[in-house]
Amino acid sequence: MISKNSAEKTDFSKKLLAWYDVHGRTLPWRFLPPDPYTVWVSEIMLQQTTVVTVTPYFELWLQRWPTVQKLERASIMEVLRAWQGLGYYHRARHLHKCAKIIVEEFSGFFPEDEATLRTLPGIGFYTAAAIAAIAFEQPACAVDGNIARVFSRVLCLPESGAKLLAAVRQQAKEFLPKTRRGDYTQALMDFGGAICRAQTPLCDECPVQAFCKSYQEGCTEAFPKKPQKKVRPEKHGHFFFLRDPETGAVCIAQEQEALLHHLWRPLRSNWSAAASRPNFPCKAPWREFGHVRHIFTHFALNVTLWVGDRPENWPIPPEAKWVTAGERTHYPFSTLARKAFQRFDME
Ligand code: SF4
Repeated sequence: MISKNSAEKTDFSKKLLAWYDVHGRTLPWRFLPPDPYTVWVSEIMLQQTTVVTVTPYFELWLQRWPTVQKLERASIMEVLRAWQGLGYYHRARHLHKCAKIIVEEFSGFFPEDEATLRTLPGIGFYTAAAIAAIAFEQPACAVDGNIARVFSRVLCLPESGAKLLAAVRQQAKEFLPKTRRGDYTQALMDFGGAICRAQTPLCDECPVQAFCKSYQEGCTEAFPKKPQKKVRPEKHGHFFFLRDPETGAVCIAQEQEALLHHLWRPLRSNWSAAASRPNFPCKAPWREFGHVRHIFTHFALNVTLWVGDRPENWPIPPEAKWVTAGERTHYPFSTLARKAFQRFDME
């Protein structure tokens, strides 16, 4: 069990590094020597997304934009198209914006310290610490849900949710080794996923069992403490697939909402808290043909799908376009719009 003794904290990191030397994962973004650009891109992609999903996106991304300078010269449309399917599109917009700042204000070099890294778009506590530790060997410890879980169990921390992250950020620094800080951060990431797992931790195989308070006290399942569940509100709306009867093209428009900004979708209603009758964009023989549901971070959305042929001389809004099925591949669509188009293509 860990006491206030700093030698024991050093032993903890030594044991973890020895485990990592044997069991650490080989991942496409773990270069030697580490490159801040690839650490940054991979860490942003890995937020809310699994390694299996991220790997092909990361490899294509690096072929296309191997440096921050190349990314800085890309258009936002190209970046969003490359991101299509990864979700949480603000991450792609932040990567693009941040690349411009790195090139224009930092001469193409990433800052090395956590505090400056955190001033950049899309880089919070976790990503700043991961870049600082992995790419620059700075005394930083990246704390995400995985790593918070490990320390919550090792130290029997009573906090949950955001308070747990803050508490671990404070305490985890005391366990940092004097060297190999990048490896240590990656060791914690791998250890949290492989051994100190969310469900059924493999305590019998754990290299730091002797330091773990919850194990010694037989209460690992009591940590981390569960935060109170929030109820996700439901919202409702309509997509209108307005079709040109001669070409089969569909009218699409660019999203203006911050959440999905720059992405394309069929014509739509506003989202509302209660299901409401559709306010169609024009008179047409509208027919309902299905529903899609999508879970955003802060709400769940239920969308009713309608199809109709455009009336003659219908004035297309200036921000909209007609696109055929083949032309759609040139536009980045939100995951919600892609789900709706999949349903439309089955019609
Ligand atoms: Fe996690 Fe079990 Fe190891 Fe404690 S002993 S750190 S709960 S795997």
